[in-house]
Amino acid sequence: MSAQTVTADRQGLLSCHACHLLSRSPRSPGGLAVYCPRCGASLHRRKPNSLARTWALVIAAIIFYVPANLLPITRVVSLGQAQSDTIMSGVIYFIHSGMWPIALVIFIASVAVPLLKLLILMYLLISVQRKSTWRAKDRTRLYRIIEAIGRWSMMDIYVVTILVALVNLGALATIEAGSGAVFFGAVVVITIFAAMSFDPRLIWDEKESQDE
Ligand SMILES: [Zn+2]
Repeated sequence: MSAQTVTADRQGLLSCHACHLLSRSPRSPGGLAVYCPRCGASLHRRKPNSLARTWALVIAAIIFYVPANLLPITRVVSLGQAQSDTIMSGVIYFIHSGMWPIALVIFIASVAVPLLKLLILMYLLISVQRKSTWRAKDRTRLYRIIEAIGRWSMMDIYVVTILVALVNLGALATIEAGSGAVFFGAVVVITIFAAMSFDPRLIWDEKESQDE
């Protein structure tokens, strides 16, 4: 990174998030909202309150992660007997049945990935707040990864939905989604929003200001 790096911010330019038009930012915005001259979307240098918003969503997701894992995600009634399963008891059931590839997929998609995403987001938040300049490129790569895998952590919801549809076709057993599924869905959606509200350009701002 050389001192000659040209950034829109240094040139006094703002990029529109909606239509990507570059426009010159006013000399003294004075807290006034600036709008894109082409499409009318509000313009800002960085996503507003990115750190505070992302922290709020990450903390909410961590709180919901607890009932998502402790409450049953499915409830099966078969021949008058009811059985409730949490994510982990489902994983253990599949291991005991010898279907360890399914157990592995469910464990990675439903337990490990959501937790890993939240840990990475917390690390990015803390590193930006501590004005770290350490391995900015790798941290940006981490951000791209968690942004990309967001939609793939809905696995359990798909599995439950398919199971409910399949099993209810037969009259012997009924299966319904447990309350854990609601919390699990909430964790996934809130984490996607948390990743969206984090502005990865913040990772580079400290490095840019040191180069000046
Ligand atoms: Zn625009």
